[in-house]
Amino acid sequence: MPEPGDKIEIKEYDNCPGCGSSFIGNPIPEESIANYNPLDADPNNYPNTHFRRVIGIEIKGQRDGVLHWKCPDCGFRWHRFTGLVLEKGKKLSKQKGFTLAELLVCLAIVLCLILVLVFSMKGCPGSTNNLSFKAGTKVMVDGVPGTIMGHERIDTDGNYTMDTWVYKIRVIDREGEPETIQAFESEVTLAPER
Ligand SMILES: [Zn+2]
Repeated sequence: MPEPGDKIEIKEYDNCPGCGSSFIGNPIPEESIANYNPLDADPNNYPNTHFRRVIGIEIKGQRDGVLHWKCPDCGFRWHRFTGLVLEKGKKLSKQKGFTLAELLVCLAIVLCLILVLVFSMKGCPGSTNNLSFKAGTKVMVDGVPGTIMGHERIDTDGNYTMDTWVYKIRVIDREGEPETIQAFESEVTLAPER
């Protein structure tokens, strides 16, 4: 950004030489457009079609007409005929609120956090959730020998967030009948080899 004392090119700026904000304003209404253009201008091709937002400053006793130009957004001011920078523009604060892109990124992050939270409680679909015994492994459950049939998720309290993984284990009950029981990983040990 040019500093006071610097000189900038003398020309009609479409953007502020300080902050870059556009000086092009609203379109001039058709019924009054001739008033804003030279008398000999071609009505089909007026050079001035939009209002300009730049502020023209006239200084009493110095000149009858604009002497300084000033940006309506940052306040950057320069001399119309010398290009001398007279006032440094303020740094424009970032626009308030979020842009759409920023909002989408925030939503994506929140969604990821929710997914991580849910899967860390439920176990990811298709994963074994750290269960280490494969189907067919001979194991002991509370002193009873059995065979791992597989594992499944069970609902421990009617609330899905408390689902947990258990082994389905085929054991032989006291009457000698095969029975499938469920056991948490912590209750299962590898059967001693014979
Ligand atoms: Zn500016």
